[in-house]
Amino acid sequence: MDTGLHGKRALVCAASKGLGRACAMALAREGVAVTITARTAEALQRTADEIRAATGATVTAAPGDITTEDGRAAALAACPDPDILVNNAGGPPPGDFRDWERDDWIKALDANMLTPIALIRAVVDGMAARRFGRIVNITSASVKSPIPTLGMSNGARAGLTGFVGGLARQVARHNVTINNLLPGPFLTDRLLSNAAAAAEKAGRTVDALLEERAQQSPAGRVGDPAEFGDACVFLCAASSGFIVGQNLLLDGGAFNATMG
Ligand code: NAP
Repeated sequence: MDTGLHGKRALVCAASKGLGRACAMALAREGVAVTITARTAEALQRTADEIRAATGATVTAAPGDITTEDGRAAALAACPDPDILVNNAGGPPPGDFRDWERDDWIKALDANMLTPIALIRAVVDGMAARRFGRIVNITSASVKSPIPTLGMSNGARAGLTGFVGGLARQVARHNVTINNLLPGPFLTDRLLSNAAAAAEKAGRTVDALLEERAQQSPAGRVGDPAEFGDACVFLCAASSGFIVGQNLLLDGGAFNATMG
C-alpha cells in the first residue's frame, strides 16, 4: 500500500514510549517528518535518536507537558503546521469515584479531553486550508466497554469521542479526517506498571497476571505496540480520506459484538 505520506509533517504527542512512540516510528517509516513530545527530555531525545536511526526520517524532540498551555505551545512551535496530529497523553489513575475531588476530574478532563481539543483547534483550520489533514486520537477500549475502576478515563475519553464525532463531520469535506484508535491491552510500560501494581496487591507474579490477561483475549495475547503504529499509519494514509469519525478498536477481539 502506498500511503502517500512521504514528506508530510506529523506532531505525535506523548511519544517517548509506548503507543505514541510506535505511531511516531511507523509514520517516520513512511517518510513523515515527526515531532514528538514527552515530559522527560532525556528519554524523549533518546527516542528521537532511535527513530531517526531506524528510519532516516527527520525527527524533532519537543519536550514538555502536553496537558499544559506551555507544553502545547512548545509542541506547536516545533511543528506549527502539521499535516498529521496524533493526540495522546498519560491516562488518569484508577480508583473509586468517591475519592475523586473536582480537581482530580479537571486534571483528567484536561489531559484526555481538553488537551486534544485545544491541539485540534490550533491546527485544523490550517489543515483544511491546505486540503489535507489526518487527526488520530489515542483513546481506549474503555470508551466502548467501560472499565469500572477507570472511571475518569471512561468519562473524559467518552467526552472527547462525542465532541470529535461532531467535528469530524464538519471538516471532512476539506480532506481533514478525525478518527480514534481504541487500544485494548498493549505491551507498553503503562501496561507493565499496572500489572506490577496489581500483581503486588494480589500476591501474584507479573508474568502470571500478564498471561491471564493474554488468555482473556480471543487473540490469546496482548497487543504489540508496532501493530498499533501501523493502524495509525493506515488512518493517516492519503487514501483514507473517506474514513471519517470512526472508532477503531484494537483489542484482539475482546469486545464481543456482532458489529462494532
Ligand atoms: P506509556 O507506555 O506509559 O507511555 C506514555 C508516554 O506518554 C510516555 O512517552 C510519556 O513520557 C508520555 N506522557 C505521559 N504524560 C504526558 C504528558 N502529560 N505530556 C507529554 N507526554 C506525556 O503509555 P501507553 O501504554 O503508551 O499509553 C498511552 C495512552 O493510551 C494512555 O493514555 C493510556 O491510558 C492509553 N491506553 C493504553 C493501553 C495499553 O494497554 N497500553 C490501553 C488502553 C489505553 P513522560 O512520562 O516522560 O511524559
